[in-house]
Amino acid sequence: MAISIKITKTTHSRINTCDFNNIQFGTVFSDHMFVVDYEDGNWINPEILPFGPLSLSPSTFALHYGQAIFEGMKAYKNTNGEAQLFRPKDNIKRLNQSAKRMAMAELPEEIFMEGLKQLIAIDSNWIPTKSGSSLYIRPYMFATDEFVGVRPAKHFKFVIFTCPVNAYYPKPIRVVVEEKYVRAFDGGVGATKAAGNYGISMLPTYEANQKGFDQIIWTDGREHKYIEESGTMNVFFVIGDKVITPLLDGTILEGITRNSCIKLLQNKGYTVEERKISVDEIVDASNKGVLKDAFGTGTAAIVAKIAAINYKGVDYKLPNPEEREVSNYLYKTLGEIQTGLIPDNFNWIERVN
Ligand SMILES: *Cc1c(COP(=O)(O)O)cnc(C)c1O
Repeated sequence: MAISIKITKTTHSRINTCDFNNIQFGTVFSDHMFVVDYEDGNWINPEILPFGPLSLSPSTFALHYGQAIFEGMKAYKNTNGEAQLFRPKDNIKRLNQSAKRMAMAELPEEIFMEGLKQLIAIDSNWIPTKSGSSLYIRPYMFATDEFVGVRPAKHFKFVIFTCPVNAYYPKPIRVVVEEKYVRAFDGGVGATKAAGNYGISMLPTYEANQKGFDQIIWTDGREHKYIEESGTMNVFFVIGDKVITPLLDGTILEGITRNSCIKLLQNKGYTVEERKISVDEIVDASNKGVLKDAFGTGTAAIVAKIAAINYKGVDYKLPNPEEREVSNYLYKTLGEIQTGLIPDNFNWIERVN
């Protein structure tokens, strides 16, 4: 079934006010947005319109009860100047997994893909072309019932807006193993991209920043013994010639970048172990001089190298960033696939047309 989207184009494009070589991440928004509402069991009124305020009742359900989920993804221009997306179907699949756990309506893949592609096509001039730059895409859904009272909401709004972003070259990050707070626990929502997962991480991250760390290494909620994620990224370690990442046990978000990294590494002949990994194992590997690499993965930074891991007041340092075989290979290769510089052997790219 073809989806018909009402389109209202802006008469006042802001594109000439954007300095595409100097964008502060997440502060510049493209001209249009996609919006669709859920009512009486149906998704209705899909619309692309000028980016602007949403009108909401003060009783909007999501604002007090937190039924809110989101996604993060990117569009790129390939070497022929055509707009393309990286693994978008994995984002809608994950959005719907989040929706299910949060008792929210699932969005049909066709509505997501059609709204997304038309939005990116309309704002394709906003996709930066400078190396490492891209158009960051923020899809999200929240409960819009005008209601006070606790039961799953019946009305939802799904929105997509986009932001041009420059390469996010973080200098290698200093991380600290968190032993007080937890991000997720068995039976909770750690595996979903629920807005609340970010809400609860603000204070612990702020406190870590105050102590001079860039990010937290989250540990399990029972013993603070096993490593889960690094901030809002999945995390990988290279010990000797093995690449290790925590297994998905319900408390870890299944990153699309994580999955892409595992596939690229396996394809190159690396042994990748998805298993529990304790902080003690990392400390031990560092003491023996076999901890070769450690990095976070996620759509925004792609790969963020870890410079040092602090545990109980001791810094465990990692090799020079330039010498890191695995993280350098992944950062370079993912970037080349996303912009069409090398063939897409995994079928990860979807053209916008
Ligand atoms: C979004 C997210 C990631 C990274 O997922 P990608 O699909 O690779 O962007 C990792 N951890 C958490 C907690 C996240 O919310």
